[in-house]
Amino acid sequence: MNVIYNAAYKCRICGGVLIDQQTANADIARDCVFHQNFDASLWPHNSGVKPPFYASHGCDDGSIGLADFIGMGATEA
Ligand SMILES: [Zn+2]
Repeated sequence: MNVIYNAAYKCRICGGVLIDQQTANADIARDCVFHQNFDASLWPHNSGVKPPFYASHGCDDGSIGLADFIGMGATEA
């Protein structure tokens, strides 16, 4: 089974989940989560996949929410 890992964020206002960057490389996905806790200069692989810790969310009610990185969600490719 091929898997795609999607950087997921959860909005602090509405609780909605949004998806940002993605990769099919499990090592890069793991490092994306691991390195959120440490020095960003340690980003590996020159993959171009560098999900930030926060993202903005356009909530359904028009609010602009702050969303926290919650991990790399796996979906079947
Ligand atoms: Zn929201």
